[in-house]
Amino acid sequence: MTDVLWHTWADTHQARPKRTASPNDTPEVVAAVTSAAADDLRVRMVGSGHSFTDVAVTDGLLLSPTSLTKVRSVDPEAGTATVEAGLPLCDFNEVLAGHGVALANMGDIAVQTMAGAVQTGTHGTGRDAGGLASQVVGLEMVLADGSVVACSAERETELFHSARVGLGAFGVVTALTMAVRPSFLLHAREEPMPLDEVLERLPELRSDNAHFEFFWFPHTGNTNTKRNNISAGPARPLSRFKAWLDDDFLSNTLFDGVNRVCRRFPGTVPTVNQISSRALSARTYTDVSYKVFASVRDVRFVEMEYAIPAEHLVDVLREARRIVDRGDHRVSFPVEVRFAPADDVWLSTAYGRDTAYVAVHMYKGTPYEAYFADLEAVFTSVGGRPHWGKMHTRDRSYLETVYPRLGEALAVRDRVDPDRRFGNDYLDRVFG
Ligand SMILES: Cc1cc2nc3c(=O)[nH]c(=O)nc-3n(C[C@H](O)[C@H](O)[C@H](O)COP(=O)(O)OP(=O)(O)OC[C@H]3O[C@@H](n4cnc5c(N)ncnc54)[C@H](O)[C@@H]3O)c2cc1C
Repeated sequence: MTDVLWHTWADTHQARPKRTASPNDTPEVVAAVTSAAADDLRVRMVGSGHSFTDVAVTDGLLLSPTSLTKVRSVDPEAGTATVEAGLPLCDFNEVLAGHGVALANMGDIAVQTMAGAVQTGTHGTGRDAGGLASQVVGLEMVLADGSVVACSAERETELFHSARVGLGAFGVVTALTMAVRPSFLLHAREEPMPLDEVLERLPELRSDNAHFEFFWFPHTGNTNTKRNNISAGPARPLSRFKAWLDDDFLSNTLFDGVNRVCRRFPGTVPTVNQISSRALSARTYTDVSYKVFASVRDVRFVEMEYAIPAEHLVDVLREARRIVDRGDHRVSFPVEVRFAPADDVWLSTAYGRDTAYVAVHMYKGTPYEAYFADLEAVFTSVGGRPHWGKMHTRDRSYLETVYPRLGEALAVRDRVDPDRRFGNDYLDRVFG
């Protein structure tokens, strides 16, 4: 047993692995996996620990990604870039920008490792561009027997379909080849809008905007909407002061203070949400894509997110509002709603269906279980799929009803990892 105590960003899970290693390249990953197998240790590479579930936890060999961070190639003409597993997304964005290319879409933070983000199906919002895993065109992996395999839509196809959102269950991803497109600017338009109006105008808001999302403030009928669209420029980024005020001070420092008060005095939450949702003012700016997609999130929280068939979104949100209005829960964090087109990644939350994502949060240290349980019942009543990296209570018996290719993916797992070298407790629950 090492004295390393690994924990997630929100401190929802800890691990005390028997051994750790920080491989510098693929051959060192092979050596680490082979020696762990000789000692009968389970193996897991972690990312940056930003999952809320115990998906990354291991009791055996913990592989750190911090030395596996090279960008192997960027080919603007082919529209691809190959990066090692442990490079943080934010660093990858900068390297890509230096070559005049960018990822088409991403989530709302960029500190995760490339492999960690892809393995749980990290996504943003998009009409045409889906989550990160749908932008993967090739994977290099070290399998349980120590072999190195390259998979893609043409080679080792079933492994590719299973392992893009693979939860670390199929092998250690050592490098990813991502589809990239020419660099682009995004024009961001953010403005408050009543929830009823958002729901009424949803088809138009979705179809008219490349990236539409909104945040609903529980206990109120108010939202903040975000519309990001590709712009020919010129770039008009937020001033340093405005960026600090909105994204650092208001969204992090002040928001944290407000949440501390709300945690202490839960009765104040509905009034506080009314005030904060009304205090929002509209803003527009234009900046390089990845600076618009992602921002800094310092306030610690716990989160559950479900991907539901988009056609159920209005009913689901009306039911969520009814539950909040019942008054059993005090929810100071906005509910985030995003969208993704159907994709072909077997274990992706957006596999095969037009998807709406509903994410619910609670400030760290606030009881969340009853609120999450009430909403999870609503999400699962319409066949919702939980984000693999965010809190949920589903096991295989449920998941096989909402993932039509789960059986095929598990057959691939039986083939490439019959001894469950890459297993952990989380996988035992969700894969059975
Ligand atoms: C503040 C915050 C904001 C977030 N925003 C979003 C968002 O906008 N959209 C969204 O979808 N999610 C979001 N998430 C969730 C987050 O993106 C995912 O949980 C993601 O998986 C975290 O990446 P990570 O690098 O921290 O990986 P970890 O959480 O450390 O690991 C995730 C999984 O990947 C596996 N893994 C890591 N590296 C490898 C490898 N090389 N080979 C094989 N398996 C590997 C791990 O074993 C584990 O199973 C957010 C989380 C936080 C805390």
